[in-house]
Amino acid sequence: MLQRPPAEPGMREEEVDTPALILDLDAFEANLDAMAAFLAPTGAKLRAHAKTHKSPVVALQQMRRGAVGQCVQKVAEAEALAWGGVPDILVSNEVVSPRKLARLLALSAISKVALCADDAAGVALIEQAAEAAGQRATVLVEIDVGAGRCGVAPGPEAVALASRIAASPHLIFGGLQAYHGSAQHIRSPEGRAAAIEAAIGHTRRSVEQLRQQGLACAIVGGAGTGTFPHEAASGVYNEVQAGSYAFMDADYAANEQAPPFRHALFVLAQVMSAPRQGFAVLDAGHKAAPTDSGFPKVWQRPGLRYAGASDEHGNLLAEDGPAPKLGEKLRLVPGHCDPTIDRYDWFVGVRNGRVECLWPITARGAMQ
Ligand code: PLP
Ligand code: MN
Repeated sequence: MLQRPPAEPGMREEEVDTPALILDLDAFEANLDAMAAFLAPTGAKLRAHAKTHKSPVVALQQMRRGAVGQCVQKVAEAEALAWGGVPDILVSNEVVSPRKLARLLALSAISKVALCADDAAGVALIEQAAEAAGQRATVLVEIDVGAGRCGVAPGPEAVALASRIAASPHLIFGGLQAYHGSAQHIRSPEGRAAAIEAAIGHTRRSVEQLRQQGLACAIVGGAGTGTFPHEAASGVYNEVQAGSYAFMDADYAANEQAPPFRHALFVLAQVMSAPRQGFAVLDAGHKAAPTDSGFPKVWQRPGLRYAGASDEHGNLLAEDGPAPKLGEKLRLVPGHCDPTIDRYDWFVGVRNGRVECLWPITARGAMQ
């Protein structure tokens, strides 16, 4: 159920009910502009990942700045985006449920859709769904370029699967999905560069071998916030799938030579108990600010450290200076933006200390 908005336009930020998801609009817009400016002179376009923002409002702002479309991981996310007016969606993931495939193909009445496969049995399922829907489905081959997650091996295996797709009257071979997830948070810039150089090599060779078989890749997609400058400069990738760049989080900020984006996303939390000196308890625990990538950081309050979480409580240590008082509200920088956004129904857009807008996070919880 969509929760009641925690704020109204015109309110001061301190009046917003907590925990709430604050979007600093100046920083957010600067991040979207920075990515658009960075990619403009390269051979790559942005197909931003909507698993981060989960919102057609954000998607359309990215597209107004030149993004060619959106990536999603889930069919339910594709539905939320297509129904919200996003015209071009890639499911950067495998879908092997006939019912989900039918749901996805039904969207092609209002949006261009494509998806990935990494198995001949999966291709057969897509083929059956496309035939039943009376359509031709666009399918990319996912290759494993080093992350060790989904994907066939680059090279001959990828060519065999692409040939299988291209031979089907119900399918169109759409290109390669070549994302290296585990490279994004390698802390050293040299380590990230080396991992992506290897990924680029695998992808380049696969594209070339496909070309020799007469199979052209309309899309060669991959890259995230931690590595996109490499893929964008490669001359091989033509789509960059970064998602976190719009918001930033503490985990990306911990990369050496961190991505050049501002913190735009915050969890606003309130001190609900201050039982002893040097210690306070916030109303934001694991549920409000997921801790899979570490605890959130307290924003612009150097003496304060978020040092422990339970479901609905966040423990705050005052290591230098006084603890915040009962009722005080603080901004937290989430450890990991994607699961944090997924906990909220509304972005509370703030500029100059005032609430300017409330954007629904329509695909929140869309995990099917
Ligand atoms: N592309 C795919 C397929 C992903 O799974 C991800 C994130 O995990 C991304 C791109 C990049 O996301 P981000 O920029 O948020 O790291
Ligand atoms: Mn993430």
